[in-house]
Amino acid sequence: MIRVTVWNEFHHELTQENVKAIYPDGIHACIAEFLQEEDDITVQTATFSMPEHGLTEEVLSHTDVLVFWNHMLQEEFSDAVAERVQRHVLAGMGLVVLHSGHYSKIMRKLLGTSMTLRWRHGDRERLFCTCPTHPIAQGIPAWVDIPEEEMYGEYFDIPKPDDVVFTGWFAGGEVFRSGCTFTRGLGKIFYFQPGHEEYPIYHMPVIQQIIKNGVRWCVPMVRRPEPLDNAWVNPSTEEAYLESHQK
Ligand code: ZN
Repeated sequence: MIRVTVWNEFHHELTQENVKAIYPDGIHACIAEFLQEEDDITVQTATFSMPEHGLTEEVLSHTDVLVFWNHMLQEEFSDAVAERVQRHVLAGMGLVVLHSGHYSKIMRKLLGTSMTLRWRHGDRERLFCTCPTHPIAQGIPAWVDIPEEEMYGEYFDIPKPDDVVFTGWFAGGEVFRSGCTFTRGLGKIFYFQPGHEEYPIYHMPVIQQIIKNGVRWCVPMVRRPEPLDNAWVNPSTEEAYLESHQK
């Protein structure tokens, strides 16, 4: 089983009626629900207001893939927790970062660039698949129309991605690297742009399929045992390989 933790800031859904109408139990509950439909995925959720944001050492060490959505409370997010997540990703934990999570402390720490972009409220997006051979693109059409989305545009200040699986075009003329993969340490990272909280984007089946594919792609191939300190384990050794497959 793939053990997924879906993390959401859970702020807009409590403070904005229009967002609450779309996600009455929070974005995390919506994402957890469609992931839970899969036979090979088991899901737990965590939110900002929980102690240590719900991302304790215990939770992370039992998480294969963390799915992460945040927006307003980027700076209030604990440095210690962001560093803990970073450490787990470097050790192999998968990370799917959605929408405004591009600017999370976790992503800035892992990728090292400013993570800034252009943005504008309310536009139509056509999301093109620009790497059809990628596992995350399997079963996804050549393009997906999103009737309403926040515009995210280039230049997106990220390091060069391993793959650009999706490229978004907006009716205003902008383009954006909307689905990017990165590898940091032993961890696989999938950043996926769609998902502004004011539009029902995570209710779209094709978007749900992309997130499911992203989760499966991010599953650790090998995971460095805890604690990490100086105990570097060569992932090519049989011992580490077996350890990673003992779930
Ligand atoms: Zn947004």
